Order: sequence, then C-alpha cells, then structure tokens
Amino acid sequence: MNAYKLPEDHLSPFLLRLGSQAEVYAPERQASGEVIFARLTDPARVVTEYTRTTLPLKKFFSLPSEVMFRFSVDRGYEVPEEIASVHRRVIFGAHACDLHALQILDRTFLHDQPDPYYAQRRESTALIGLSCTPDELCFCNSFGTGFVSDGYDLFFAAVPGGFFVQIGTTRGNDLIGMAKDLFAPADEADLLAYRRYLKEHNGKFTREVTTSALPGILELETGSALWGEAADRCLGCGSCSMVCPTCYCFSVSDRLDLSLKTGERRRTWDSCLFKEYATVAGGHNFRPGRDARLRQRLFHKFVDFPARFERYACVGCGRCTAACPAGIDFVALIKDLRREASA
Ligand code: SF4
Ligand code: SF4
Repeated sequence: MNAYKLPEDHLSPFLLRLGSQAEVYAPERQASGEVIFARLTDPARVVTEYTRTTLPLKKFFSLPSEVMFRFSVDRGYEVPEEIASVHRRVIFGAHACDLHALQILDRTFLHDQPDPYYAQRRESTALIGLSCTPDELCFCNSFGTGFVSDGYDLFFAAVPGGFFVQIGTTRGNDLIGMAKDLFAPADEADLLAYRRYLKEHNGKFTREVTTSALPGILELETGSALWGEAADRCLGCGSCSMVCPTCYCFSVSDRLDLSLKTGERRRTWDSCLFKEYATVAGGHNFRPGRDARLRQRLFHKFVDFPARFERYACVGCGRCTAACPAGIDFVALIKDLRREASA
C-alpha cells in the first residue's frame, strides 16, 4: 500500500502549503455549531472531527444558483469568466459518504451529455478525504458508503498522533510531493493503527436500514397510507433536497433586461418537494399532493436511479432527517413501509 503518515502538528503547514498553490476549502465550525466547507483563511479554524457539513460537496460543482451565460443582441453569448477560466482548488476534509455522493452526481452530470460547468469544476478540483465521526442519524454502512477506496486524490484517516494518508491519484501524489518534508512513509505500526481505526470506526454506526429488495417494497407500498401520514406533516420547504448530497435537480430561467436586448440564463437548485416542480405549461400539476411529492423523492433514490445506474442514490449521510423542520425521518418511513409490506 502506497501510504504516508502526517503528524498532527504538520496538518496546518500542509494546508498553508496547499493554499500557496490553489484555493483551499476546509470544514470550519460556525458560531451556530454548524460545520461548513469554507475558504481557508486560518488553519487553526479547520475541524478534523465532525459529523456532517450543512451543505455537501455538490455546492462546489453544481452551484446553488449560477449564471450559465449572458446574451446580447450585439455580442451574442458570453460564458461568465469564472467558468471560462480554469480555477485550481483543493477541498480538504470530505467524508467517505460525500465522496460516494460525488460519484453519484458524476453519473448524472458526466453521463451521456456531460455538463461542461460541472465537468470543468470537477477537473480543476483536488479532493482530500477525511475520516468521519458518525452520529445516531448516520447509516452509510447500510449502503456500503462508510468506506471509500477511490474518488479521492488523498484520504486522511485520523490515527493516534496524526493521520494515515492514502494516495488515490497521481494528482494526490503530486500534492504530497510538494510537501514531502512534512510526510513520512507509513510503516508497519502505522498500518496497524489504521486497521485499528477501521475496526473502531465500523463499530460506531448504530443506525441501519435493510436495503435488499427496496425498490420492490416501495412499489408494493405505493398506495400505503403512510405516505399521507408523513405528508400531513411535510411543509414542502425542500430543505431535504437542498442538503442532500445526491439531489441534483435545478430549474432554468431566462432573465431579460428592460431593453429586451441583453439578459442572462440562470439555473438554480430545485426540489421535487416544491409544489410547482411538476407543473407544466397550461397549469397542470402531475404531483399536486404532498404525498405524491414525498413518494417521488424516495422513488427517485431507491427505484428509478438504481434502475438506470445500478446503485441507490442515497449515501446514508442523515442530512435530510437532520434538516427537516417537520421531523420527518425518511429512514423510519422506509422501515415502516417494509414492516407494512411484510405484515
Ligand atoms: S437521502 Fe438523506 S441520507 Fe440519503 S444521501 Fe440524501 S440527505 Fe443523505
Ligand atoms: S425537509 Fe421535511 S418538511 Fe421540508 S420538504 Fe423535506 S420532508 Fe417536507
């Protein structure tokens, strides 16, 4: 195994070294207690033990709202400078589930007709993974996403005294190369410490969801009253979609200025939980009820996506449950549906 050890007190110098070469983003705790990926200003603010960031990595690749291009009668189309130019970035501190989620987004944004905005940002961003601290809402182990063996440039696992560092790509190798004085090749003792970390980490998960035959269970339970019971509490706020690392829907709109000669095309995150989401020209809404919209969210993740890409579109991060102001717990709903189906 091509691995290194980084002593704990070498992390700050390493991040500063990265910052001299590229824009660096890392997890920071806010006054509210939330952890977010923020632009690195002071390595002392970086947290290496946290459960989940409020917004996942998708905010770096499919922006919450962005101008795709501007148009004008005189100049034609212009792509914003930020997209047209290559922008080197490093994101430090991505958990295994979030790295898996990015691979799910890749299937959508880079499949068939690659999205050039997403592709350019993926290409110019190096990813450094970091071991996580699960809580009672995490169930990534049920989807096999609590451990990651690719999809990163480097992966840091916290072991006593520092980090066990694995190299995933040649770009990751180059990142180590520019700070080689800070790293030491991992020895037998480091490997042992890493194996101990893996064992302990696996034992920390308390939540589980049975994934076998899940598409069939959901289809069987399409007409269940449980959807309506959850929908009675749902506010249709869309928070569950916004925080979800694998929800990728966006809406597109054109904005013209008053001269009708210039304007912009913008895309903005959307949610299938919004009432207008399935409304078409003429005003017909294909999913007028909140129960249908809730069902749509789960069907997309556990029925439609696996039918197309042979994997569930959920990584068990627990964000949707943590963010729901109505206390709707999708895992509990899935468990209830399974229980009802087998009663
Ligand atoms: S559905 Fe919920 S638990 Fe699954 S990836 Fe999305 S936010 Fe995380
Ligand atoms: S976060 Fe909760 S209340 Fe808001 S749309 Fe999602 S399920 Fe409904």
